[in-house]
Amino acid sequence: MERVWIGLGSNMSNPKKQADKAMWSLSNLPATKLIAFSSYYRSRPLGHKNQPDFLNAIIILDTNLSPKSLLSHIQYIEKKQGRVRLHNSLLWQSRTLDLDILLFGQHNIHTSELIIPHYDIYNREFIIYPLIELDNHLIFPNGKIITDIAKTVPENGLDFWKK
Ligand code: ATP
Ligand code: CA
Ligand code: CA
Repeated sequence: MERVWIGLGSNMSNPKKQADKAMWSLSNLPATKLIAFSSYYRSRPLGHKNQPDFLNAIIILDTNLSPKSLLSHIQYIEKKQGRVRLHNSLLWQSRTLDLDILLFGQHNIHTSELIIPHYDIYNREFIIYPLIELDNHLIFPNGKIITDIAKTVPENGLDFWKK
């Protein structure tokens, strides 16, 4: 059993509804138990600014799935909720649902399809602050402590999702 942290993002088709639905699907994955989830946050989009703000949240799961199997399950959930991956697609375009594996126990993984911890985990306010809400003693696989990381990450207008 490993403790896994999943980052959720949505800025299309009623983000609150997308998040609630994804939460339900994640809690029903095989060999997996939902442990906790953060508040819903509102963040400014990365990349193209002429798109709606994002709803972000983090979910903690305990799972016996392998990282690779968990990735295919979350990609299936994204697809079920209408995520379209376009060829030549712009990075960070609007999407109904994005699920990223942020941490998988204390594992470091570098394969062609998976980088864990998530490659940008130390820079994104919509990852760091929800992580702090869930566990302000969190220590990353490289030994860094969440509260030390947070000192270097501006909030960029991060707020709670009110709607
Ligand atoms: P970013 O990765 O910068 O947050 P994104 O989430 O929009 O951007 P996607 O298009 O959703 O990027 O994902 C592209 C690929 O990233 C996926 O096909 C997947 O194989 C790979 N990937 C690598 N590491 C991870 C991870 N930790 N969690 C989810 N996907 C990952
Ligand atoms: Ca992402
Ligand atoms: Ca993703």
